[in-house]
Amino acid sequence: MALLQISEPGQSPDPHQRRIAVGIDLGTTHSLVAAMRHGVAECLPDAQGRLLLPSVVRYLDGGHRLIGEAAREHQSDDPENTIVSVKRFMGRKHADIADAGRLPYRFVDQPGMVALDTRAGLKSPVEVSAEILATLRQRAEDSFDDELYGAVITVPAYFDDAQRQATKDAAELAGLNVLRLISEPTAAAVAYGLDNGSEGLYAVYDLGGGTFDISLLRLHQGVFEVVATGGDAALGGDDIDQVLGAWALSQAGGVAASPGDKRAALVAARAAKEVLSTAEQTVWSARIGGRPLSVPVTREQLEQVARPLVERTLASVRRVLRDARVQRSDVQGVVMVGGSTRMPLVRHAVRDLFGPDWAGQVLTNVNPDEVVALGAAVQANALAGNSRDGELLLLDVIPLSLGLETMGGLVERVVERNTTIPEAKAQDFTTFKDGQTAMAIHVVQGERDLVADCRSLARFELRGIPPMAAGAARIRVTFQVDADGLLSVAARELGSGVEASVVVKPSYGLADEQIARMLKDGFTHAAEDMSTRKLREARVEAERMVLATRAALQADGELLSADERAAVEALVRATEQAAGLTDADAVDAAVKALADGTEPFAARRMNQGIRQALAGRRLEEV
Ligand code: ADP
Ligand code: MG
Repeated sequence: MALLQISEPGQSPDPHQRRIAVGIDLGTTHSLVAAMRHGVAECLPDAQGRLLLPSVVRYLDGGHRLIGEAAREHQSDDPENTIVSVKRFMGRKHADIADAGRLPYRFVDQPGMVALDTRAGLKSPVEVSAEILATLRQRAEDSFDDELYGAVITVPAYFDDAQRQATKDAAELAGLNVLRLISEPTAAAVAYGLDNGSEGLYAVYDLGGGTFDISLLRLHQGVFEVVATGGDAALGGDDIDQVLGAWALSQAGGVAASPGDKRAALVAARAAKEVLSTAEQTVWSARIGGRPLSVPVTREQLEQVARPLVERTLASVRRVLRDARVQRSDVQGVVMVGGSTRMPLVRHAVRDLFGPDWAGQVLTNVNPDEVVALGAAVQANALAGNSRDGELLLLDVIPLSLGLETMGGLVERVVERNTTIPEAKAQDFTTFKDGQTAMAIHVVQGERDLVADCRSLARFELRGIPPMAAGAARIRVTFQVDADGLLSVAARELGSGVEASVVVKPSYGLADEQIARMLKDGFTHAAEDMSTRKLREARVEAERMVLATRAALQADGELLSADERAAVEALVRATEQAAGLTDADAVDAAVKALADGTEPFAARRMNQGIRQALAGRRLEEV
């Protein structure tokens, strides 16, 4: 028999057989593709030498469409058919898009994911994203004059299941072989080569046009792990444009009455802001109400109006550090990502947050627009088997806790928020009633204690549980989150082996603001949740005791005298009444009274059970 040949680790069998793998940053406003060439990662240009592809698709008649710059030019004259920022709709339902009414699109509420009605028909965000990805794929194939082996696509660290699945679907629709989805902050850290540096904690500060994301990564034995994430889904460079535009208008005594005026004020503010990242002063100028206005503006003036917004990002950074129980001095470096981190104010503020004695560094020397795509390219190259040092493992975290509904509408969290993935975690549950043969499994996501306050992910039933006494069955429920962040849940009754499972279908999307709100609610309502939880738990326990006592009376009532039986029945009624009270302590007291009052009865039942078991057997058999 011929022996199978195995090449040395990290060496592809034939150096000319290098597989072409790319990294793609599928961004809200811009997308990029990068690849390793001659040992370094670089972004690939289009035929005109441009690196950034505006994430814009315009649908024309006859099945034609424009993608990128050409599409963006028509954003204002053909808004309904010119789709911008489609990333915000990925894996989302119509109801998840808070500002849908203010957007120019004809949204169609479809089961699973919202769709956009264009002149080319209904388009899902997945299809729109696939156009962008296919354009980048073509760009890469032209650059290498060869077929692609695969791609690594980046997603925000907080993207939920549905959003990740939608991204994967879009890539597959674009004809890409998805090697892996990785989080944007992890890609940025890889681009800086931090994985080859010293072990420890790093932060990634990403301030773009409309969003702010902060992530905490830990490097351990060459492996990155996203320890925690946070941020603000509605804070970015656009907000700085707003405040600067308003300031300039007030200086000039102008009023922006029409939408056109407002746009002009913002465009001028953005231009001035960007100039002030390198210059000390410039002039804001715009046509407002038909007449030209101009206002000189210094960097210091910009910083004065922008500082409160930058302060808000710092508050998020502090919160994430606190969440992760990390000291500022433990952070070895902060990777700066996103166009707004070019502002000196932002760089200094981040530096100052860590204090004068901080030994770490604020990393700014890789282009903040390209850094995510570059890191994805390094990772793609490694996953394609081209790298010298073998595969680099990247881990992400789960943005919201995952759990199950238990009796009383309570949530039992199985996988905590910020757990690294891939992760498999199991917990045992049991039946509530005697002879119960089926169990309804309800998978939820969120930080609150009550099911009603969390988001429902999936429901399924486990049937065929052998009839047993309440509490005797052992149902093991396993949550598995794969490397791409996709969840499957399985339930198995351990005695009989009956099993049921569900792969959480990407049928919902959750807006970032919703995630933010659910997290915030989790913190602010913790005390209130705790007392509600206590009451519900007490009620469940009362109900369980009542059921169990009734069953015992029915089975072995003859063990009690008439008086004893009446006393137990009175206790059962008292417990039932107490379960209707809103005072958890009163419910607990009734349950305790019932437990105490039925103790002799329970003892007699047990003795009888033992006698029956022993009846007719010789002692040595026992
Ligand atoms: P996103 O990831 O949200 O698409 P980007 O990372 O591309 O956004 O960042 C866009 C933001 O960066 C815009 O608000 C833009 O004004 C800002 N920006 C770009 N260049 C500069 C600069 N030189 N100085 C300050 N802000 C800049
Ligand atoms: Mg970005």
